[in-house]
Amino acid sequence: MVQQNKKFKWPDVLQNGGQNGKRILARDWSKTSLGPIESWSAELRFAVVTCMESRFPMALNWGPELIQLYNDAAKPIMGGKDESLAFGTPVKDSYSEIWDILGPMFISIFNDGLATWVEDQQVIINRHGFQEECYFTWSYSPVRNADGEIKGIITNVIETTLKVIGERRLNILKEMASRTIGQQTLEETCFESIKVLKENDNDIPFAVIRILNDENTSAKVVSAYGIKVPDRNIEQGGEHFHPVLKEILKNKKPVHVKNVPADAFPNGQKNGVDTKTIYVLPLFNKFENNIIGFLSVGLNSRRPFDDVYKNFLDILSNQLSISLTGAKVQEAARCVSAGQIKRLGQLIDASPDHIFVFDREGRYVYHNQATGNALKAQMISLGRGDEPTLNLSGYDMEFEPDFLKRFMFAKDKAFEGRISTVPVTFPTLSGPRDFECILSPIYDENGAISSVAGITRDVTDLKQSIKIRDEFLSIASHELKTPLTTLKLQTQMRARTLKKGKTEVFNEEKLAKIFREDDVQINRLNRLVDDMLDASRLNAGKIELHLEQMDIFEVINEVLDRLSLHLENQNINVVMNVKSVNGKWDRYRMEQVFTNLLTNAMKYGDGKPIEIQTEVVNGQLVMTVADHGMGIKPEDQKRIFKQFERAISSSSVSGLGLGLYIVKEILKTHGGKIKVESVFGSGSKFIVTLPLNLN
Ligand code: ADP
Repeated sequence: MVQQNKKFKWPDVLQNGGQNGKRILARDWSKTSLGPIESWSAELRFAVVTCMESRFPMALNWGPELIQLYNDAAKPIMGGKDESLAFGTPVKDSYSEIWDILGPMFISIFNDGLATWVEDQQVIINRHGFQEECYFTWSYSPVRNADGEIKGIITNVIETTLKVIGERRLNILKEMASRTIGQQTLEETCFESIKVLKENDNDIPFAVIRILNDENTSAKVVSAYGIKVPDRNIEQGGEHFHPVLKEILKNKKPVHVKNVPADAFPNGQKNGVDTKTIYVLPLFNKFENNIIGFLSVGLNSRRPFDDVYKNFLDILSNQLSISLTGAKVQEAARCVSAGQIKRLGQLIDASPDHIFVFDREGRYVYHNQATGNALKAQMISLGRGDEPTLNLSGYDMEFEPDFLKRFMFAKDKAFEGRISTVPVTFPTLSGPRDFECILSPIYDENGAISSVAGITRDVTDLKQSIKIRDEFLSIASHELKTPLTTLKLQTQMRARTLKKGKTEVFNEEKLAKIFREDDVQINRLNRLVDDMLDASRLNAGKIELHLEQMDIFEVINEVLDRLSLHLENQNINVVMNVKSVNGKWDRYRMEQVFTNLLTNAMKYGDGKPIEIQTEVVNGQLVMTVADHGMGIKPEDQKRIFKQFERAISSSSVSGLGLGLYIVKEILKTHGGKIKVESVFGSGSKFIVTLPLNLN
């Protein structure tokens, strides 16, 4: 059942229209184009009451001047305009700043008689004491009289500012996250972030990103837009840091900088936005929670810098921090691996071993420096030294067919998954050398053999050392065996003599001879063993000197005394031009030096006279031992000072090839040296130079 409607009398009915209803009642309308309130037409009364009693924001514009009235619900939209400007005045006056938008809409309603509406329309309204960027959705509906004539317009309006700006900011945050995460470097992250902000520059009219160096001593502008960045775009650290950055480094909190000078904006300010303030936020390494940079943003002066705005910038800088942290991690990882690869490359290149990779046809797809040199030598020998060696095979380089056959066979085996070794002799820039090549398969990520790696080691020296060692062992056993066999034969003979009861053989004179002969063989054995021990001690650097003041004259005479019997037996003449020279040396070792040189002169001197000379030259002892024997070929003169090296066959003259090596090493520990001058077939002269004192 519909209740009986309660009747209200005009204009008292406006008592129910809230504050603005009462305001209409209180006002004298006779001075306006609406005329006294009692004279208002039925349709105006109807429209006013509908508008004032609605709890939804509504406005009414009436008459030729479109005098504006609105209800209480619409008051917040008016901001500071309320009453003084917007209520009861022509709409053209109350919205002069946006009349260019509103005017045509009003006119079109009067012309066409059709309602219009807009959604989320941006309007910059002078309210709350500043030019504010606002958004509204509204509709204009014509109000007609009984004859259908349009007399006014009713506006239904809602403000959508927070929704529009919220969506806009959310969009920036989304863009920032999706486009900056996963960037490879800090720089790229900064550039992309600035791009995102520039494309959406309503809330951030300009921005600068600075990145701190690792030591926090300076901050570099990496990317910026909308603001003139100083030419010297590096902020020096320490005391010279800008006070704002210093403050942020200290407190780890954003700083609001006011009154930025206008000359910071070379291209004017976006949309005439008067940006006088900058908000500077710290950017963090999210893993270590330390500051790695700064984001400086301009603020949209048409929006209040409230908590909502601050929260938005906080989330934005947090997102940027996350992306920068990710990029930093990527950079660090790449830095290590790039460095490692470089070092690995250098290592492979520096290797004396030949390292290379073959494709299925046996073409070199990679080779290191050592391989390159060997291949170059081959190409030079073909007169094709200018050609590159990569992507050529051994066939292209015309290697010896037998070698190639073995090499390619091993390559094919490697492609079947087997590792094989090929011994080869290969031409090099320094002549042919012996190599041992190991070919093994390289697998790709799917487990298929993609290529073959080869490592070819130069085994020439190794082979040579093995040869020398084997020769030495046979010489050493022969050398040791000679005195041992002599001793053994002697003792067997003596035993047999004794067994036969011939004791007269062992009279005093005979016994003395026997002991002398035994002594010679034992001494020989002793010397051999000593030489071997000395050589190994010298090799290990374990020789110890017992220095004492001595006269070389005495040393030489003592040795000559000991060897006099042998000299006499071989009828060798010794010519002495020996002066007394005092020095501080190891007596035993000096005897060894002279003994070795003298016995060599005896061994290789062809029984001819030996000349010994000492003198002091430039404060050093110079001792010469010269013979007139077989001499030494020029090509052997250097190597005879090395271990086991001999310039003579072991059968002609016995020896281990250690004497001169021991001499050279002893002299070296005394700070001295030895050299040889020789004419093959005419004799040799060994010259020792020795400081008088070892400092
Ligand atoms: P060894 O005499 O036991 O062979 P050394 O080291 O003393 O060992 O000498 C090395 C080689 O140098 C000898 O084998 C010999 O060929 C050569 N040599 C050394 N001294 C002379 C010399 N006075 N005349 C000619 N050749 C020499």
